Amino acid sequence: MNKPHSSVAPDEIFERLKQNLMSYMHDPDIALVTAAYRFSATYHADQKRASGEPYIVHPLEVANILTLIKVDMASIIAAILHDTVEDTDATLATIKQEFGDDVATLVDSLTKISKIKFRSNQERLAENFRKMVVAMAKDLRVILIKLADRLHNMRTIEALEERKRHRIANETLDIYSPLATRLGIYGIKSELEDLCFRQLKYDLYSEIAQKIALKKTERQGFIDEVGDVLDQELRRYGFTAKVSGRPKHFYSIYKKMVDRGLKFEDIHDLFAFRIIVNSIKDCYEALGVVHAMWKPMPGRFKDYIAMPKANLYQSLHTTVIRPSGKPVEVQIRTREMHEQSEYGVAAHALYKDNVGKASSEKDKSDIRSFDWLRQIMQWQSELKDPEEFLEAVRVDLFEEEIFVFTPHGDVIRLPLGGTAIDFAFSVHSDVGLRCVGAKVNGRLTSFKKAIKSGDIVEIVTSPNQKPNKDWLNYVQTSKARNKIRSFLRGEKRERSLSMGNEIFRNELQSRGIDVEKFLKSKEIASLLKIAKENSLNELLIAFGYGKINAKRLLDRFLSDTPTGEVAVFPVSKSKQTRILVSGLDDVLVNFARCCNPLPGEEIIGFVTRGRGVTVHRAACSRVFEMDVLRRINVAWKDDNSTTKSHPCYIRVSSYDKKGVLAEITNVISAAGANITEANIRSQDLTAVHDFCIAIANMQQLQEIIKKIEMIEAVIKIERRSLVSAKSRRGAKR
Ligand code: MN
Repeated sequence: MNKPHSSVAPDEIFERLKQNLMSYMHDPDIALVTAAYRFSATYHADQKRASGEPYIVHPLEVANILTLIKVDMASIIAAILHDTVEDTDATLATIKQEFGDDVATLVDSLTKISKIKFRSNQERLAENFRKMVVAMAKDLRVILIKLADRLHNMRTIEALEERKRHRIANETLDIYSPLATRLGIYGIKSELEDLCFRQLKYDLYSEIAQKIALKKTERQGFIDEVGDVLDQELRRYGFTAKVSGRPKHFYSIYKKMVDRGLKFEDIHDLFAFRIIVNSIKDCYEALGVVHAMWKPMPGRFKDYIAMPKANLYQSLHTTVIRPSGKPVEVQIRTREMHEQSEYGVAAHALYKDNVGKASSEKDKSDIRSFDWLRQIMQWQSELKDPEEFLEAVRVDLFEEEIFVFTPHGDVIRLPLGGTAIDFAFSVHSDVGLRCVGAKVNGRLTSFKKAIKSGDIVEIVTSPNQKPNKDWLNYVQTSKARNKIRSFLRGEKRERSLSMGNEIFRNELQSRGIDVEKFLKSKEIASLLKIAKENSLNELLIAFGYGKINAKRLLDRFLSDTPTGEVAVFPVSKSKQTRILVSGLDDVLVNFARCCNPLPGEEIIGFVTRGRGVTVHRAACSRVFEMDVLRRINVAWKDDNSTTKSHPCYIRVSSYDKKGVLAEITNVISAAGANITEANIRSQDLTAVHDFCIAIANMQQLQEIIKKIEMIEAVIKIERRSLVSAKSRRGAKR
């Protein structure tokens, strides 16, 4: 663990900074860095950190951390100045004058971000997070400086009071360590996580630290032994390789214990071995040597060289089982890959100007890794709800990913646990919206099942398919989640619109107002004004959602309107409530579309929210799903006197004989009923006839059923919920 350099004088820290700069910059402008140091030291002169040391120590150490990532000179200068505008009298204009536009812009962004405070209020937190991510996404250097700033603050956090320490540690785990992971800066990520872990779960942290320290000699012996064997064997094959072993960082051990429900003692891979070789070819050859020595554990080999992670991480990973039976993880990579994994790709091409325009092939691959940044920018314009944005960014900042293939061999990256639905949406939104199933490695599989790295996935689509709410339980990617949500939102709007339309019409009719005339009249405008809605559609949707109560609105509207004018809309005759609702007068009644009750049939009513009473057949299977408390007694007003017909769905199965269909339809029309829909299929020797018949009452239906049963070729007749697949889906909701 890094200790705060509390007793070190600022000049010494500055000396170290100069050394560090010279270690990776060709010809660093030392005069400029010195000027920045003087400037910052002067402005921060009377300030002290919570620890009591001079404030200037902090910006200098931040700059030192940044030298590990090999950032450019402007970032170093900006790091030294990063708190001056925020905390001292220094102005942006002065900085611009002394250090130029580039530095000033960086300092300005950093100042703005530091003003964003994360408080417990979830909504504000989300909105602030959005602001911060967007500010950082504009220039990657801002993220890097912010990360270094946070790392130094975490290293020196002990001086703060407990509540503040916890808040900062939580925020760091939520935002900064995922960002470090995304940028592939594992050196900073691991240190941040361990520092946070120590603050948030001190007991567990010390337990793990102690246990690792306790067996230190034993473990060092183990590290030496395995390391030596690997080293000797590689040498025997002529490799110049550097072998090292180290314990994994504490937070990753803790996470493994929590995620897999393991005790510390049950975790075998507390150590990882690393083999660093000279070339990519050597990586694969060294892997061969390791696998020849010890048996590889199936399913644990990962080739991040052929398929780098989104953050450009490259390495071969394998877990082998030693003769003792204990598994050991081995990572094999080149020196360049190693440096990149510790301090990220920052050293290469990720400065402002390079994001978005690629000059060489190498740059292209670097820039591809910042697709997620571009994605973030896109989301922030698409996702208006800050919480959805926060969720999207958080989900996609997490590191674990798998690689799967399209049938054409294209690689698709998915988060661990991703399903074929995620895959489908990654290929194309339209594929996602229409997916009905997936072939994984040629076999038809549930599209809700998690897919594995290396699987070849082919999506089966159907033009009739639509996403449903359940899908949200089976997706991992933000892209899929957002697309499904926006689809469902649109659909809900549509449903609310038609529901609202129905409510409104019923309400008007029950007051004896002619609907069509009313809708075309100028009255609508004044109604909208009262409702504070912009259009009739919006008003109807508001009725459908239950946001506005149509009855109350009309009451108010009509009481505002001079009595004479209501007469403009004559009573319409179409309103005929055929249902008596116990204890209620003048109530809106709907017939449930799942069972379509017929007059004379035993029925049950349910009080709904904003839609009056829905009437089901007493025998309808949905009745058992309904809330008993909302049940209400209903009865048919007059069984046989009305002429209005109800849709009724029946299915007749028969032997596939000539003339059967004609016989059935004859029976139906002879009974005085109309067929409104028919669907006939034959299969082997039987035929299935689905009909929707307009039926006046139960008696008529019973008569028809009896007559159809008497037809010789008929095997069975049943009453059904709905006639075809199309209408079945329509009524499910
Ligand atoms: Mn700072």
